[in-house]
Amino acid sequence: MNTERSASLHARSSEVLPLGVSSGMRAFVTDPPLFFERAEGPYYYDVDGNTLLDYTLAWGPLILGSNHPQLNEAVTVALRKSYTLGAQHEGEIALAEKIVSVVPCAEQVIFSNTGSEAVQAALRLSRAKTGRTAFLKFEGHYHGWMNNVLLSYHPDLSDTGPLESPNVLAGCGGQPSEEYAHTRILPWNRLDLLKKELEKGDIAAVIMEPLNANSGSIEPVNGFLQGAVDLCAKHGTVSIFDEVITGFRLALGGAREYFGVIPDLSIYAKALAGGFSLAAVAGKRELFDALRDGTTMHAGTYNGATINLAAGLATLEVLSGTPDIYENMSEHGRTLRKTFEDEGRERGIALSTSGAGTVFNVHPGHETAPTDYRGYAGVDIDAYTQFRRAMLEGGLQLLPDGRWYIGATHGPDELVTAQEAIRNTIGKLKA
Ligand code: PLP
Repeated sequence: MNTERSASLHARSSEVLPLGVSSGMRAFVTDPPLFFERAEGPYYYDVDGNTLLDYTLAWGPLILGSNHPQLNEAVTVALRKSYTLGAQHEGEIALAEKIVSVVPCAEQVIFSNTGSEAVQAALRLSRAKTGRTAFLKFEGHYHGWMNNVLLSYHPDLSDTGPLESPNVLAGCGGQPSEEYAHTRILPWNRLDLLKKELEKGDIAAVIMEPLNANSGSIEPVNGFLQGAVDLCAKHGTVSIFDEVITGFRLALGGAREYFGVIPDLSIYAKALAGGFSLAAVAGKRELFDALRDGTTMHAGTYNGATINLAAGLATLEVLSGTPDIYENMSEHGRTLRKTFEDEGRERGIALSTSGAGTVFNVHPGHETAPTDYRGYAGVDIDAYTQFRRAMLEGGLQLLPDGRWYIGATHGPDELVTAQEAIRNTIGKLKA
């Protein structure tokens, strides 16, 4: 694949952007990082004339693909009226009403711009409500790049400490330990350990990805999600699902609908606005009392920005108004998972898959899917990198960690293309 222009643009961008990219994780996806001119449906077009069938969906948001007519129309109409107002408008009500109508048991919503910000808002609400300071997250779960949550995300296994009381490990330099002194870490999927910690009675919130998409799309073990929510309720702790990935993706009602479990608060971003920067926190009305009574506050210049909210409403209208859209996306993903599993079995390549139809992971080197971060960390990522490079040569763009995102524009033709590419390339996963 010719990447001459991308290489030269990367050299130029590295002069003015650290690593030549705008988000650190993008620097090492391909060598050189690819530069793109445009995207259409599920296809990306790069500056060297390559057309790539995309299963990254821009790391999740592009659930309707790119250049979607209804999204374009909604954004264009909004654009002619205002950019952002810094004041109230009906679009806020319309989108909040829509979210409340499709998210099970949600009564109120606050808007933010990114998942990272919305996570902080949810933690602050929990602390204000409970009067407690400490909160708990799980090893391998990602909740944005802020100092109090970028912890024990993808630590080196030699640093993690005992499983039952993991070390709290900063994700990068520049994170002073004072700023995460109140964050506690446990392994996921262990109700017994969670129970012990909550019994101390000093935890404001438990936050988790209900499907751990950031560490291999690990699934919750039977009863864990409901058990965790129940334990939180028993001990006066706020339960938070970080649905930045799962929201409007696993189902229209996200993980709440897909798993049938209702936490106190859920955080949404990514698929919520189909590619525009928008996040939200949703929950029962009483969870937001601390904002109404002045105990705490939530702010942001761009909160409720008109164009982003119009994109959000259009996205949710398409998702809720298109018959079988979730079934079709899920079937596409399930078929790809089965293709991996069947080919792996036939060729004697150890692999497994986990997750849902609309977001899943391939685990080379694992006969059965991992159930926690420490299991996932053993995935043969070098083999997957070889596989991914060969897939790119064949015209498919994939995320580096084995994760696949399925969107509404991945149709039957794309399925055939992807299946053929997997069959032609899967030999690279053999150790
Ligand atoms: N939470 C989860 C589960 C995420 O996957 C992400 C981003 O990938 C975030 C939070 C942070 O969201 P953002 O990148 O919009 O700040």
